[in-house]
Amino acid sequence: MASDIPFNDLGWSYRELRAELDAATGRFFATGWYVLGKEVDAFEQEYAAYCGTKHCVGVANGLDAMNLVLRAWDIGPGDEVIVPSNTYIATWLAVSHAGATPVPVEPDPATCNLDPARIEAAITTRTRAILPVHLYGRSADMGPIMALAARRGLKVLEDAAQAQGAEWGGKRAGALGDAAGHSFYPTKNLGAFGDAGAVTTDDPVLAEKVRCLRNYGSRRRYYNDCQGINSRLDEMQAALLRVKLKHLDRWNAERARLADLYHRLLGPKSGLGAVPDLTLPGVAGEIGHVWHLFTVRHPRRDALQAALAADGVGTLIHYPVPPHLSQAYAVVGYRRGALPIAEKISETILSLPLGPWLKDAQIELTAAAVRRFAANEVTRTA
Ligand SMILES: *Cc1c(COP(=O)(O)O)cnc(C)c1O
Repeated sequence: MASDIPFNDLGWSYRELRAELDAATGRFFATGWYVLGKEVDAFEQEYAAYCGTKHCVGVANGLDAMNLVLRAWDIGPGDEVIVPSNTYIATWLAVSHAGATPVPVEPDPATCNLDPARIEAAITTRTRAILPVHLYGRSADMGPIMALAARRGLKVLEDAAQAQGAEWGGKRAGALGDAAGHSFYPTKNLGAFGDAGAVTTDDPVLAEKVRCLRNYGSRRRYYNDCQGINSRLDEMQAALLRVKLKHLDRWNAERARLADLYHRLLGPKSGLGAVPDLTLPGVAGEIGHVWHLFTVRHPRRDALQAALAADGVGTLIHYPVPPHLSQAYAVVGYRRGALPIAEKISETILSLPLGPWLKDAQIELTAAAVRRFAANEVTRTA
């Protein structure tokens, strides 16, 4: 029987980088300066350089990052923002909290990312921005999205929460739209030891406005230019993120290697052939995909998840309820069937364990458990 393979191992990066992380916290504690100091400044410069943008503004989390960009663009009541129908609810909430309306557009089922061909039909006179998500670590199809936005005079805000390091056309996520929101929630490819987030952009005016909004609307202490919020990147998280950023490319490469191993074990080219009814995630090539999650699809997803759990393999569903069917958006009155692609994805998708803390043997055991389930399915339906 397979040994226990947890879906996530949050303590792993500390075990790997203990000396470096302890040195960083030691330095931080000794400074006697705990909010908006040298570590946040340095991380902002280093992360902007990593993404290839002129500016980075550290904020408290990914939701605030996106919300503050929309507010800085004066997007609010009466305005519409196009969002994917199959994202994590934070993408929609960033729009709703600005007072604007999220307008869902269905994804391309092959990539699970916003389908550029469907966007145009959703644009109205109220549309102000498009908010593509690089879901599961795969870059959205940014070329056509940027071209459409330019033609229709819309802003593009990337939700780069799951895609630190992903590239499209030689540029990194965060540098592909007019601005991007990043999350460093502990499970992300670049995860903090608590909540953290950032905005990246080349636009100096936007960067300055977000900088002001994240700190009570203050540019000068005790003088407040607008009704901002408290959403500062924590100084200690910045110190720890600086340590981890240096290892991100290596970790992403390891994720890609393990994703490739899954493909070799479960794909049509494996010695055992393709797994019946199992859909593997598409490969985006080069570094178009940083494999935040390895998502398969199966018509009997719940049974597959239960079989893997019985074999000691932890899995998660990203996400079981699409935002439009969540209680949070019940006020809008969406009906089941309104966004069939997102609904189908939510019913069939399953994330297998994937991360730099896993060994090849654990991927092999997981793949074997998936094949065992599939073999039992054949006998069940025979
Ligand atoms: C994690 C995540 C967010 C939100 O980030 P927080 O830091 O938790 O606020 C937003 N969008 C997507 C797609 C995410 O995965």
